[in-house]
Amino acid sequence: MSEENCIFCKIVAGQIPSQKVYEDEHLLAFEDIHPQAPVHVLVIPKTHVPTLDDAAPEHGELLGRMMLVGAEVARVKGVAHTGYRSIVNCRESSGQVVFHLHLHIMGGRAMGKMG
Ligand code: 5GP
Ligand code: ZN
Repeated sequence: MSEENCIFCKIVAGQIPSQKVYEDEHLLAFEDIHPQAPVHVLVIPKTHVPTLDDAAPEHGELLGRMMLVGAEVARVKGVAHTGYRSIVNCRESSGQVVFHLHLHIMGGRAMGKMG
């Protein structure tokens, strides 16, 4: 999916509303519209990177920032101590449906084993 009709680019641009949890120059975090856990927040770069497989060495700092913001979101949401899952799906077999890189932060319930 191209940048022009990317749903998450539209969220970054404010063309689609979202419940923002965190925002800075590079990143945005907002509530997932169909939460799979009591806490389910998405952390995205403001620039359009379709998948983790499209990340290049110059995205290294951005990816690091995403993880740190995810950890901060978990602290703010009160799940840092009980624990949480951070997931990046990449392409079809993973279940990725939105092709703008995003980190899921999910907590507030037992997650079970990955499958
Ligand atoms: P994926 O399966 O691509 O890793 O996850 C995409 C996530 O984006 C899903 O959990 C889905 O609920 C969420 N999502 C899709 N469209 C929207 C939207 O318009 N707003 C918000 N807040 N979340 C969305
Ligand atoms: Zn995008």
